[in-house]
Amino acid sequence: MPVLSRIAEIQEDMQTWRRDIHKHPELGFEEIRTAQIVADKLRDWGMDVHEGIGKTGVVGVLKGKGDSTRTIGIRADMDALPLQEMTGVEHQSIHDGKMHACGHDGHTAILLGAAKYLSETRNFDGTVNFIFQPAEEGLGGGDAMVKDGLFRRFPCDGVYGLHNMPDTPRGTFHIKKGCLMASADTAKIKIRAKGGHAAHPHRAVDPIKVGVQLYVALQTIVSRNVSPVDNVVISICEFHAGTAMNVIPHDAELSASIRTATPEIRDYVEKRFKEICAGVASTFNVDIEVDYQRIFPCTINHDKEVDTIVRIAEDLVGAENVNTDAPVRMGSEDFSFMLEACPGAYIFLGAGDEDHRFHVHHPEYDFNDGILGIGASLWARLVETELPLK
Ligand SMILES: [Zn+2]
Ligand SMILES: [Zn+2]
Repeated sequence: MPVLSRIAEIQEDMQTWRRDIHKHPELGFEEIRTAQIVADKLRDWGMDVHEGIGKTGVVGVLKGKGDSTRTIGIRADMDALPLQEMTGVEHQSIHDGKMHACGHDGHTAILLGAAKYLSETRNFDGTVNFIFQPAEEGLGGGDAMVKDGLFRRFPCDGVYGLHNMPDTPRGTFHIKKGCLMASADTAKIKIRAKGGHAAHPHRAVDPIKVGVQLYVALQTIVSRNVSPVDNVVISICEFHAGTAMNVIPHDAELSASIRTATPEIRDYVEKRFKEICAGVASTFNVDIEVDYQRIFPCTINHDKEVDTIVRIAEDLVGAENVNTDAPVRMGSEDFSFMLEACPGAYIFLGAGDEDHRFHVHHPEYDFNDGILGIGASLWARLVETELPLK
């Protein structure tokens, strides 16, 4: 197993921390207990600890030997999901409707493991900022930390993050330069038409007909506006209208999730989306209101930092186990906000094996403890290699 020997010794600690956090999941911006555990441990290990950054975020600052001014940031997320756990494991969530179904318990334990190792050994010259962020799952905890002055208060030459990935083999790494994960935006559409009797459609303006046309027309952005090789998803996931089988409703509402893989295509898709809504409105003589919200930017890796983390990963698990041309994933990640503010890289760590087949966000998913040591070794070697002793 490609794990540093001292980290192998704290593997059991990491598993204990991970399972304890798993048992007590907390939703975004409510990570009071988790943040307290993290802060207490970092303090015990002699770090300068800063709490309440981006509401419930924690930063631990560790200085190595020597007087180098170089700095590295490593980030883990701490929040759970509103989901009923169905794993049946001994450390199953004790909070109904809350579950660590994305493995952020594991990411936190991995970063704690690296922090313990590095605080003991300090075989580096420079400063490490251990960043524990709240609310990754759709609430923008990464953005909140950046807006709260994360990189101003704790400057980082580079910032790094990882995510476990159960659909790739345990212990493999997956990354690419540029966009690794999509942007995620939403649109709420209100169609105001003219209700009436089902038997007299000519006296009404039917909003369902307009919604159906809009549903079809919006998909032409994907099929006919952007290039076939660009990654764009438009999913219309809600369509509400009507109250009775013999009444043409007065209005209808739709909502959509929009995913793109570059900032330019993101702009273009938003423009076409609004144009099509306006065009359909004028075609059918109705009023269409669009509330288009940008939620997460694309997760865009920086070339130099990708080269750095790939080198470390290859040293650890062999080049044959590091995929440097991973496909873009159309999910989103709010580490993207940190990558907009600071150069850095985000990498996937494979977590799949015969005992871990469920994907993240599934009620039977559980983080694979078999990757804790590899993750912590990656962070430890990153620091020792990038902030070398003179
Ligand atoms: Zn998730
Ligand atoms: Zn996640």
